[in-house]
Amino acid sequence: MAVVLVLVDHLDGKVRKTTAELLTIARRIGEPSSVFLGANVQAAADILGKYGSQKIYHCDSAELTDYLVVPQAELLAQLVAETSAVAVLIPSTPEGKEVAARLAVKTGYGLVTDAVDVQSVDGRIVTTQSVFAGSYTVKSTPSKGNAVITVKPNSAPPQQQPAQPELTPVDFTASDLARTARITASSPKEKSGRPELTEAAIVVSGGRGTGGDFTKVEDFADSLRAAVGASRAAVDAGWYPHTSQVGQTGKQVSPQLYVACGISGAIQHRAGMQTSKTIIAVNKDQEAPIFELVDFGVVGDLFAVLPQATDAVKSSKG
Ligand SMILES: Cc1cc2nc3c(=O)[nH]c(=O)nc-3n(C[C@H](O)[C@H](O)[C@H](O)COP(=O)(O)OP(=O)(O)OC[C@H]3O[C@@H](n4cnc5c(N)ncnc54)[C@H](O)[C@@H]3O)c2cc1C
Repeated sequence: MAVVLVLVDHLDGKVRKTTAELLTIARRIGEPSSVFLGANVQAAADILGKYGSQKIYHCDSAELTDYLVVPQAELLAQLVAETSAVAVLIPSTPEGKEVAARLAVKTGYGLVTDAVDVQSVDGRIVTTQSVFAGSYTVKSTPSKGNAVITVKPNSAPPQQQPAQPELTPVDFTASDLARTARITASSPKEKSGRPELTEAAIVVSGGRGTGGDFTKVEDFADSLRAAVGASRAAVDAGWYPHTSQVGQTGKQVSPQLYVACGISGAIQHRAGMQTSKTIIAVNKDQEAPIFELVDFGVVGDLFAVLPQATDAVKSSKG
């Protein structure tokens, strides 16, 4: 059966949910093998096996963590050559997309970024993307048969199919070219206690309509264990960090539920959230463009609506 390589997204061996999603998708098009870069592969092996990984290729070389993304692309290209993988699935993060682009150049594989679905149709890989701010759905198939695909988080519900993965160490030496951009320092992001924006199943976002007071947005998000996002107008005003911006020039999110509070629904904002499965908006202007794309709209002042919604969620939990 054709090998499908999945680049594992993890923090010190703690595997992120996106990897379980990628392994679930990989099983549709072939036999998944995980590629684990960094330390603590043992901590990850159980979860990777649970989602059907047949092999775990792992490498803990400092060259993979001390430099920017080029060594990762080189190692993946080495594994593609060894396994003749039909596809490589990578999480759609900014880093993942750069690794994917470099890998596609090295292997000559087709490249698809930001896929929201990947299927096997008559033995061919078919990907789905949502483009032009969600106005078009594009289906693609790699003309050369093989593909490097970055997949957006929340594109498939993770499904278990237990396997006993074989741990395979990989010998790797980065090229001189790959060692030209060294990471000199890194510091962990301050923890908010909320889920990571791009991975969260629920996102509650605030816009200019908050007037700079995000407390009601945060309270509602916390009642749902959701991540908090923001429009560019809100982050440009300094009301929320730039890392929380959702949209064309911010983060792309695709949660099960997106709640837009005091956000008008400009095309650049839609570009980052329109693939959300269910969209709710709270806006006091019933003509706001956001209402064109919602599944459920509330016309009202967010400072009156959100506290009631928060209380209702809390009391339903008992
Ligand atoms: C190149 C480019 C890239 C961009 N990238 C992004 C991007 O990545 N993300 C992004 O978001 N934007 C982006 N923008 C900006 C975008 O065009 C909009 O300006 C921005 O999204 C507007 O943010 P907003 O909806 O919060 O504000 P506004 O458009 O001002 O809307 C505020 C809304 O809040 C409502 N409101 C006011 N008070 C209340 C209240 N008390 N209760 C309920 N509703 C209330 C109003 O009715 C209004 O609809 C980009 C623009 C450009 C040119």
